[in-house]
Amino acid sequence: MSDGIFEMAILGRVVWDLHSLNNEGTVGNVTEPRTVVLANGEKTDGISGEMLKHIHAENLWILEANKDSFCEACKRLEPARADKNTNVTKKNTPQDAVRQAIIDCTLCDAHGFLIQKPTVARPSTIEFGWAVGIPEIHRDIHLHARHALGEKVKPKGAPQTGKCDSCGRDNVDVWEIEQQKLCKDCAATLTTSQMIYHRPTRSGAYAVVTVFQPWKIGLNNVNYAYEIDDNKRKERYNLVLKAYQTMFMRTEGAMTTTRLPHTEGFEGLIVVSKANMPAPIISPLREDYKDEIKKIATMMNQTSNQSVNENEILEVMEFSSISSFIEKMKGLLERRPYKLTLEK
Ligand SMILES: [Zn+2]
Ligand SMILES: [Zn+2]
Repeated sequence: MSDGIFEMAILGRVVWDLHSLNNEGTVGNVTEPRTVVLANGEKTDGISGEMLKHIHAENLWILEANKDSFCEACKRLEPARADKNTNVTKKNTPQDAVRQAIIDCTLCDAHGFLIQKPTVARPSTIEFGWAVGIPEIHRDIHLHARHALGEKVKPKGAPQTGKCDSCGRDNVDVWEIEQQKLCKDCAATLTTSQMIYHRPTRSGAYAVVTVFQPWKIGLNNVNYAYEIDDNKRKERYNLVLKAYQTMFMRTEGAMTTTRLPHTEGFEGLIVVSKANMPAPIISPLREDYKDEIKKIATMMNQTSNQSVNENEILEVMEFSSISSFIEKMKGLLERRPYKLTLEK
């Protein structure tokens, strides 16, 4: 039998050209890209973890053929998740509420939720850091951001509920303006003169870090019991992996209506932990991150007192392109989520 997967970390550099995946509000008719500051004071460009997690959740939702495996809120991709599941909110104790939320919904289980009454939070099994532009590659970026005078745009007619193409916020009132869907705030800062030419487009290699914790699938964090059977846990595990595959092979985010990213490549490591030990993370901002991870994994394997079918606990898989990333993830689809042994 193959080893169960306790945790996996995906560490890599993805090259997105001519995208506007995430943007920091609109000033005049110029949409400012997200700027982040690194430890050495260097400024670079980033795409938030919230945005990447949102992209993953959307892919997971798309890939599930049976939408009945989602709760009422998640069927409509509402960010409130379990907090809007009436089966959950009528429960009296946090333990029962979490139990019901996990049973009712794949998305709530995988991506976590917060219930106001009874008050309880169940963290996500999936974590994303910022995607950070690697400075030495980004140095030559030109931002096509110019100011121009024009008329203020006023939203007309009734809004729809949806995602804003500019700031990427979801489930907000949006108006259709010049072939884009914009929220009130973004529309208010726009002017009419050829605004499409005043949006930043960015190109570069981005360092990506994300962790998935399969051992937590189906796990109630109040009483530490698994609330769904092994088959269901395996189905949800598969769906999470497939959503990782599709989010990198076709990245959808803010402004993709006219700024669909040109994805050039993806290279990095998948670090898999097969027993109860965290998978190590080194940022792909570092040139030597692959060597560092491999050295760490070797040492951790040497000093671990656990044997996993006589295999090493940490397994490091390298990928060099989108297709090889897809292939490695396909291999992981043959595995199963790790299950804690819990005494009742
Ligand atoms: Zn849900
Ligand atoms: Zn907006």
